[in-house]
Amino acid sequence: RFIAFEGGEGAGKSTQAKLLANALREQGLEVIQTREPGGTAGAEAIREMLLHPPGGGWQARAEALLFAAARADHVEQVIRPALEVGTWVVCDRFLDSSRAYQGGGGGLPDEDILTLHRIGSGGLLPDLTYLIEVLPEEVAARLDRRDRGMADAIGGRDASFHDDVGAAFARIADAESGRFARIDGNGTLEETHRQVMQALSPLLDR
Ligand code: C5P
Repeated sequence: RFIAFEGGEGAGKSTQAKLLANALREQGLEVIQTREPGGTAGAEAIREMLLHPPGGGWQARAEALLFAAARADHVEQVIRPALEVGTWVVCDRFLDSSRAYQGGGGGLPDEDILTLHRIGSGGLLPDLTYLIEVLPEEVAARLDRRDRGMADAIGGRDASFHDDVGAAFARIADAESGRFARIDGNGTLEETHRQVMQALSPLLDR
């Protein structure tokens, strides 16, 4: 089974991914926890280029290609081999982040990002995608910063960019609701984890 966590900056995705991976291991399942951009040596090198652009910044299309390349390496070397032997994969961000950031935020057509994903990663989709949603004011309070753009590891993005990202995530989750669980991430991490575990039951029964 392949599970992804999605959401904006400061949503608590990584913490929730870790809690879920541990809960699955306690049930005796074989689990790997990974993240993107990253997850392989090559993809981590691309992550560095994305977070610290050598020329000061990437244009949206180039950025989308780099994310797709990092994802292709990660899928081929880590995710598919694990799924093939029945290992569960819990991934912090996946394709829908590209659709939300480079699409919703960066203005690229959704179709183009899906095409890159088909070319790079055979169109692989998670069995279940958690969208952790947190109100902008809660994110700002958690990060103790007025400008949510400052929470972004990639520079030059303002609050309106992040509003577009959040709206795009919500749109994708509505349109493809069969593979999504929308989680209210405004509460404590225990409250959020409880919702994550509840939404998991259909996958465990199968
Ligand atoms: O998940 P994490 O916060 O580590 O992601 C690193 C950075 O990459 C974030 O600041 C996020 O804004 C950015 N990102 C992006 N487009 C993606 C995935 C992540 O801009 N497709």
